[in-house]
Amino acid sequence: MHKFSIRVFGCQMNSYDGDRLRTAMLRYGWAETDDTEADVVILVTCSIRAKAEQKVTSEIGRYDLSYRHKKKPYVVLVGCMAQRIGREISRKFQCVRVVSGPRHLGLVPQAVTEISQGMSQRYFMDDDPRALIDLNVVPSARLNPFKAYLTISYGCDRFCSYCIVPYVRGRLQSRAAEEILAEAKALTDGGVKEITLLGQNVDAYGKDFSNGYSFASLLKDVSRQENLLRLRFATSHPKDFDDNILEVMQENKNICRAINLPIQSGNDRVLREMNRGYTAEQYLALVTKIKEALPDVSLTTDLIVGFPGETDEEFRDSYNLLKEVRFDIVHTAAYSPREGTRAAMMDNQIDNRIKAMRLNEINALQSQIAREANERYVGCEFDILADGAAPRGEGKIQGRTMSDKVVIVDGTENDFGNVFRVRITRASHWSLEGERI
Ligand code: SF4
Repeated sequence: MHKFSIRVFGCQMNSYDGDRLRTAMLRYGWAETDDTEADVVILVTCSIRAKAEQKVTSEIGRYDLSYRHKKKPYVVLVGCMAQRIGREISRKFQCVRVVSGPRHLGLVPQAVTEISQGMSQRYFMDDDPRALIDLNVVPSARLNPFKAYLTISYGCDRFCSYCIVPYVRGRLQSRAAEEILAEAKALTDGGVKEITLLGQNVDAYGKDFSNGYSFASLLKDVSRQENLLRLRFATSHPKDFDDNILEVMQENKNICRAINLPIQSGNDRVLREMNRGYTAEQYLALVTKIKEALPDVSLTTDLIVGFPGETDEEFRDSYNLLKEVRFDIVHTAAYSPREGTRAAMMDNQIDNRIKAMRLNEINALQSQIAREANERYVGCEFDILADGAAPRGEGKIQGRTMSDKVVIVDGTENDFGNVFRVRITRASHWSLEGERI
């Protein structure tokens, strides 16, 4: 029996694609193993920053060395990096035999089988940014039996000037609502308790439909799925997050009170250069509205420091905005020029040492804010859905509150998939500790 291994790099949408590819390969009669034993290694790749691509390239180099001696494993390269530089990589490394963009995954399992029967290299590139040959497989073979991702749309039409996504994942294409609802039903019938709806910009879901069916409509319909304890979604866009979404969240108690709303910068000139489509003031007004509508909401964001031309004063605006909003978590990154994007061609690229200094300053601030935010939960009681072993500590498991706080408690794997009540006893900037009630 042929053996495969899957390695996922990057975002949750890649995890979803990895789960679907795993499910499909098992249906083709392959066995999953680790990459030292595998005949084929499938790499689900990311292009969001140069580092992500460098990491995968060095892994391919390692496999290529083995391939030259033992004629295995051969490599299947899918995802954003495959779309961006897959052809080039396959010319450099003999072991790379299948290359597929994120919108042609439907062709990959068959191609993997054909390659194992001696077929030569196969390329499935997303040259047409609207083409889609999807993998119509419900991801039943997942790493976590109680939680599942569910991608609701592909691509993005926003073209933020620093972002490679529209060039490697194509134009916005919303999946049919019936398809998504059927998948949600299959997942909950299979024991899934928590679903996370995914999209580059979930709030834009349905904007390519003519029937007015929107993300708010979909959120409501999925939340009504029987036996679905928790529904999450990521990632939002301040320009497309609307009152209907808020209303649906207020009305449906199983929709988690956690919103990731990327701000990217606190300065209006930089936001304009980023082509984000809103000002800092408009963003703050939206935050106020969200916190009024959902007082127990946890708000997280993404922030880039060192965007081309960013002055110390402009960086200070981002710093002060974090102090004002006090996000639960900020995913920070130093600007990484992506070939082919408008920002990469801008003048005034910032020196890496300045980027590093700004990143350290922001991370230090946010670590303090996150700790203080979490400390206010000590003594409070919450229902958590236990979903796995704790990263550290014998006899410790972890679960999440409705507002996406990680709580570490005593427990065993028999508790996984169950909801139980805890009282918070300790807080750190990343997680909480609790005792069962
Ligand atoms: S909305 Fe997100 S995915 Fe789309 S272009 Fe902007 S940063 Fe990229």
